[in-house]
Amino acid sequence: MTKILVLEDEDSIRGFISVNLRRHDFTVIEAATGEEAISIMREQPDIQLALLDIMLPGISGLEVCQELRQLRPQMGIIMLTAKGQEQDKVTGLEIGADDYVVKPFSPAELVARVNALRRRLPEQSGAAVMPEISSGPFLLRMGEMRLYKNDEPILMTPTELAIMHLLMSHEGQAVSRGQLLDTIWGENYIGDPKVVDVNIRRIRLKIEDDPSTPRYIETIWGHGYRWDGMQLG
Ligand code: CA
Repeated sequence: MTKILVLEDEDSIRGFISVNLRRHDFTVIEAATGEEAISIMREQPDIQLALLDIMLPGISGLEVCQELRQLRPQMGIIMLTAKGQEQDKVTGLEIGADDYVVKPFSPAELVARVNALRRRLPEQSGAAVMPEISSGPFLLRMGEMRLYKNDEPILMTPTELAIMHLLMSHEGQAVSRGQLLDTIWGENYIGDPKVVDVNIRRIRLKIEDDPSTPRYIETIWGHGYRWDGMQLG
């Protein structure tokens, strides 16, 4: 069973989330403060997913996200954001969340998003048996959950790796935003399609020689992105 941390300060919401996740075969570990969440994560290295509320009494969910990303680059993180707090969701994605869910949400929506993220985890994605892909200075080893550039490993989140895998396995071809959303966030994704662009921006910061003039991941305006690792195009 997949172990998930649920950080939410309001007891009723935390209970509601936990009940629904347990019904779908998750082992749920609950935390009511950010400080508590971080210490639990340090003690339990087998927690693979985290659901983080942003508005908390002590340190915010955004700070927790940042901390967890440092601690465990390969775990999956979903932020819980309040309606109308547009900036929070963008900030959350920029600092490394894989997705976000806006409150109030239905149990079905929440479980769908958590399940989509669970499918990106190494044990679930079949990554161990995926062949490695090399392109220009890059080598993608999904089995190791690592991307190398000039033999140097680059730390990436499960979502970033899934995006890289989709782009690199279509070298030189345009991949639409819709294709990225369907493959990675799941069909019938009801969040903001901008989640794709924020993740691409984050990947560019990690892999491009000059992220302000990206060359490896090209933007195809109004459509999507294209991988050009060889710099032929
Ligand atoms: Ca809260």
